[in-house]
Amino acid sequence: QRNAGSAIVKKKLATGWLDGCSGCHMSFLDMDERLLELAEQFDLVYSPIVDQKIFPQGVDISLVEGSVSTNKDEHKIRMVRERTTMLVSLGDCAVTGNVPAMRNAFPVSSVLERAFGDAPVTRPEMFAGLPQLLPRVRPIHEVVKVDVFVPGCPPSADTIYTLLRELLSGGTVDIARLTRFGA
Ligand code: SF4
Repeated sequence: QRNAGSAIVKKKLATGWLDGCSGCHMSFLDMDERLLELAEQFDLVYSPIVDQKIFPQGVDISLVEGSVSTNKDEHKIRMVRERTTMLVSLGDCAVTGNVPAMRNAFPVSSVLERAFGDAPVTRPEMFAGLPQLLPRVRPIHEVVKVDVFVPGCPPSADTIYTLLRELLSGGTVDIARLTRFGA
């Protein structure tokens, strides 16, 4: 896409990290030199891998890794949705809940007890100001509308490259041909 002066108008791309292991972001980085090729078409305006603290308005595409596990995750994904045109659930944790959702079989109190035993950290006052675990871990689409689902744990760098190449040029992607759950 070009503006009137024929300069390329770059899309605004963001990546977000909820409750995930960062493996999906590692796949993003594994695009290696192809990132440079794609970077001619986007500006990375927010991501854990850049030093931008505030999620901006008017983002064209957001890739979000991880499930919604805390009140902070929920606040963040609602804000990302509000400021993004195309929201992509990136990876099995975002799409299904995956590993973080394994705790859903247990109450939060049991999870904390299992993790910390009777250490002082389990006292409510120790959690003041920290993100609170929600009763259930949820995939992103149970909280906000998702436009594109990309399964995989993690989705491969090839998958992310093909996805971004197509989305940045305004095309569509047959995700089922690229990746699958657990891939
Ligand atoms: Fe990590 Fe897999 Fe979840 Fe991605 S989908 S955040 S690689 S556990």
